[in-house]
Amino acid sequence: MEPADAGLIRKVSSSLPASLWAATASPPPDYSTPAGTERCDVAIIGGGFTGLSAALHLAKRGLGVTVLEAAEPGWGASGRNGGQVIAGLKHNPDNLNETFGPETGERISTAMGAAADLVFALIDEYRIACHATRTGWIQAAHGPRPYDDLVVPRCRQWQARGVAARLLDKSEVAALVGSTPQAYHGGWLDPRGGLLQPLSYARGLAAAAMAEGARVCASSKVETLARAGDHWRLSLAQGELTAKQVILATNAYTDALWPGLARTVIPVSSFQVATAPLDAATRACIIPGGQGVTDTRRLLLYFRLDHEGRFIMGGRSPVDDNPARSDAAPLQAAIRRIFPGFDARMIDYVWSGKVAITKDTLPHLHMLAPGLIAALGCNGRGVAMCTMMGKIIAELASGTAPRDLAFPVTAPNPFVLHEFRKLGVFAMSQYYRLLDWLESR
Ligand SMILES: Cc1cc2nc3c(=O)[nH]c(=O)nc-3n(C[C@H](O)[C@H](O)[C@H](O)COP(=O)(O)OP(=O)(O)OC[C@H]3O[C@@H](n4cnc5c(N)ncnc54)[C@H](O)[C@@H]3O)c2cc1C
Repeated sequence: MEPADAGLIRKVSSSLPASLWAATASPPPDYSTPAGTERCDVAIIGGGFTGLSAALHLAKRGLGVTVLEAAEPGWGASGRNGGQVIAGLKHNPDNLNETFGPETGERISTAMGAAADLVFALIDEYRIACHATRTGWIQAAHGPRPYDDLVVPRCRQWQARGVAARLLDKSEVAALVGSTPQAYHGGWLDPRGGLLQPLSYARGLAAAAMAEGARVCASSKVETLARAGDHWRLSLAQGELTAKQVILATNAYTDALWPGLARTVIPVSSFQVATAPLDAATRACIIPGGQGVTDTRRLLLYFRLDHEGRFIMGGRSPVDDNPARSDAAPLQAAIRRIFPGFDARMIDYVWSGKVAITKDTLPHLHMLAPGLIAALGCNGRGVAMCTMMGKIIAELASGTAPRDLAFPVTAPNPFVLHEFRKLGVFAMSQYYRLLDWLESR
């Protein structure tokens, strides 16, 4: 195996956008930057959960791995998300069987159903300090129809696969969430889920990959990617890297490095607010069991408490990067509607990040060319899924045949009229808002 070069080691000053997570994360490990001409077995472009998990699992297999992150590991969605660790995909297991056939469908459900186990096992194994708690995940139905059509089958299908999931009636959801009884019609509790501090988890994955021998580079934007004989050549402002294999793990931040790849996803902003730590009386009423909560809206709301008792809520927003405090108004209104007694004025942090939506709302794994793998399309759920996808990518890059993987390798599926995506996202958001409102009546 070709070892990843030692390179220049330096502490990276934080290039992260302001957020609760950036303000409270564990310190980063000492990242590298490539210098001159270097080589490795596998170059990974993108330092989020997907790329970092792939690096960790490849390094464990003894390959020389270099992660190249344009900003700092965790800069993308991985350091800005809600920190809700959720098992499974957004598609129900039976739907996956219909789409892929029972054998592949069950294989996907088994792997993605175990994705939260993988997250908590890595946290234990590498002692990642990220305020992880495994208190379960609640999906709350915003009306009778989503309860009957989505929540009940989803819960029953996981129960049929051995998960100790539980349906919750209206009053149980109100008690567990601390919401007004009118807010939710019922829900289900998935014991596999939990919470963590996402930026600390990303930094912990980076440190774990480094401990296993991977090199993790910050401030290392890959500017071009080209085939050179039997290798790939990656050029950066600071130098050049050649690699036998390349993994593109850039999700919603996918640029023009590989022709057409960006057209397979639509980047959509998700926006979050965090309050000041709640007083003890309010804290005792809101999500007293400490679960992560996501509702069934198409423009979903998700919320939780952090380890210091701040209330954090996220949702769809037209705001792209660098949101202002005034952009918090729709989420403050949602907080008042769901938790009438709760004073939502004390917002300490607002921030946003991008998720990648695919045509079929499934994550995608591609072999774009010999030795060039891409995984993208989290569709808004990726703390656990991307960690598992990184492990699957490591198997693929280590020689496991695609047919033996837990997730299918498919051809890229671009959106037509991708250049009009902003208009499309706006129109769909309005339509979804209307449907969500009608269903919650
Ligand atoms: C606001 C928000 C809330 C969310 N909440 C949850 C949640 O609670 N639970 C959950 O399961 N999921 C959640 N998600 C989704 C989850 O965060 C993502 O699925 C996951 O982080 C994607 O990880 P990734 O590694 O694929 O991509 P990212 O973390 O986005 O990483 C991609 C990286 O690629 C880098 N990059 C791009 N181009 C280049 C280049 N040319 N050279 C070098 N580097 C490059 C970028 O700088 C970026 O850091 C949320 C997402 C957002 C945005």
